[in-house]
Amino acid sequence: MKKTAGPALNQEKRPLKPCPHCHGAGFVQSMFYQLRCDNCEASGVVCKETGESLAMDDLVIQLRIRLNDRSQQLRSLRKQLAELRGGESGRGYGAGGSRYHGD
Ligand SMILES: [Zn+2]
Repeated sequence: MKKTAGPALNQEKRPLKPCPHCHGAGFVQSMFYQLRCDNCEASGVVCKETGESLAMDDLVIQLRIRLNDRSQQLRSLRKQLAELRGGESGRGYGAGGSRYHGD
């Protein structure tokens, strides 16, 4: 399969996997330095199907999609957590829950 460098930049989420060269870190450790991993363009991910790095434009899109996903996930988890806390304690740490007490 050829690396797609054409105009077909599609905004769909495509399956990625951790780069086998740097194990998803995006860099490799040399004796003294951390060197950017050229295998994955320092992204830490490669195409799951081809095992090749993504074109830079495509990479930005794919990572942005994932970032948005995570942000949404985080928001939803925070909401669930707030609801759980509210339900369990009943003591009402306040709607914002900004204060955290260890006990
Ligand atoms: Zn890599």
